[in-house]
Amino acid sequence: MSELLPNYVADQWITGSGAGTGLVDPVTGEALVRVDAQGLDLAGAFDHARRVGGQALRALTYRQRAALLASVAKTLQANRDAYYAIALANSGTVKNDSAIDIDGGIYTISTYAKLGETLGDRTFLLDGEATRLGKEPLFQSQHLQVPTRGVALFINAFNFPSWGLWEKAAPALLSGVPVIVKPATATAWLTQRMVKDVIDAGILPPGALSVICGSSAGLLDQLRPFDVVSFTGSAETAATIRSHPAVTQRSVRVNIEADSINSALLAPGDAPGSEAFDLLVKEVAREMTVKSGQKCTAIRRVFVPAASYDAAAQAIGARLAKTTVGNPRNETVRMGALVNRAQLNSVREGLATLRTQADLLHDGASRPLVDADPAIACCVGPTLLGTRDPDGADRIHDIEVFGPVATLVPYRDLPHALELIRRGQGSLVASVYGSDAATLACTALDLADSHGRVHVISPDVAALQTGHGNVMPQSLHGGPGRAGGGEELGGLRALNFYHRRSALQASTTVLHDVQPAPSA
Ligand code: NAP
Repeated sequence: MSELLPNYVADQWITGSGAGTGLVDPVTGEALVRVDAQGLDLAGAFDHARRVGGQALRALTYRQRAALLASVAKTLQANRDAYYAIALANSGTVKNDSAIDIDGGIYTISTYAKLGETLGDRTFLLDGEATRLGKEPLFQSQHLQVPTRGVALFINAFNFPSWGLWEKAAPALLSGVPVIVKPATATAWLTQRMVKDVIDAGILPPGALSVICGSSAGLLDQLRPFDVVSFTGSAETAATIRSHPAVTQRSVRVNIEADSINSALLAPGDAPGSEAFDLLVKEVAREMTVKSGQKCTAIRRVFVPAASYDAAAQAIGARLAKTTVGNPRNETVRMGALVNRAQLNSVREGLATLRTQADLLHDGASRPLVDADPAIACCVGPTLLGTRDPDGADRIHDIEVFGPVATLVPYRDLPHALELIRRGQGSLVASVYGSDAATLACTALDLADSHGRVHVISPDVAALQTGHGNVMPQSLHGGPGRAGGGEELGGLRALNFYHRRSALQASTTVLHDVQPAPSA
């Protein structure tokens, strides 16, 4: 039997009492490790994190907590090789794709370490200026942000076992809030190993970081009014979490990052052969194949002027045709596996459903795999679909196939394109490609209310841009509507979720005494 990974709760490594769930190499089918959370004292674990971890973290200043984050980043950096090996085995990703998760996570913590430094030797934050409440200036209201005295529970998706942990943990720990992470079972190994390295390095105060691998059963029942829960995953699980009594009755604050039918738009006026056209083509092919399309921000719908439809299909297809798919251990392979059989089946089903309303423009799914047995490996080549009936083909605006699949959509004019994009009902990101600054600006503004991020690419930023799907810690991550309505990252804005706002109404003399220490 493979090794059973221990959980870390109440500052102890404890293995579950059950047989556990096996984690598997999605390319070779080899059994790797097992995870199990049965028999854990969850109430004790949450209580310890709140009491011991919360108190210790809140006793530190933002600058001190930022220094902890910098040390965490350093420890993770020192162990990168082990993380790459786990990602290769458990996620079946090529090196560049593993980097997005592993180095993306380390970069995000390092960014928050630097941001935290700017907050200086404070233990709470002022929110705006004091405002007088009456005619006399002596009695005023000052808003504060103080760390919540609860625990932050993270329930994460399988596609980012590293980044998904650290993009949430960095702002939580910087805020002074202890973390309990429950990674998705399929890829829990990397999360568990990273937590182990950080614990072994003795960086964080006791109780500050815990990891529970395996079933989520009973976790939400532990949540109390000042706790927060941050979830990334499917809309179905999000709905279960939203309807749990912890949220509906105990007002536990919840952040949801769910699925999203993201768009890329070529502005009217930028014809085939233009720089903007080429930039769109390149980015669409990249987004479809990075992490085998298993990115919540990946481009799912590609909008082009109707006159450019055929040229775009040909150009994107030509790029996709160069993508070698199979065993990531083979150096010629550019795209590895989906995470497991269940995801492969789900992608195949989703593709079949979309194909009832869309044509096949590039069929990567029927191409042979490199160095991988198609009967075992969870690999599938990239597939570009297209529709000539964007108004009638409702499924393309509604079904997220979480794999290397996108649909090309022709539009008549800009209002038509914007109306079609809105049928995604709120997304994490839309990218717009064009050369006319005025058109790009008004298009971006029109998309802003329904997208957490609008990524605008004109030829002048071609070499500088950070990519449609790359989530940068400086910018907001999250989206309204079906994307879950969540907000993560966005620089120091991320700290809001882990703080409580309170209005202090008092004499200016008292308010003077609650001023935080000056910043750095
Ligand atoms: P999922 O099945 O909803 O699982 C997500 C997490 O929820 C896992 O840790 C899972 O644990 C846990 N979970 C399952 N049932 C639960 C329950 N009843 N109560 C509490 N937790 C429960 O999603 P997934 O298939 O892993 O992830 C794919 C989806 O995530 C895609 O739709 C994608 O768009 C979305 N996603 C969104 C973002 C974003 O930032 N917006 C990022 C990545 C992915 P187990 O693994 O143990 O079942």
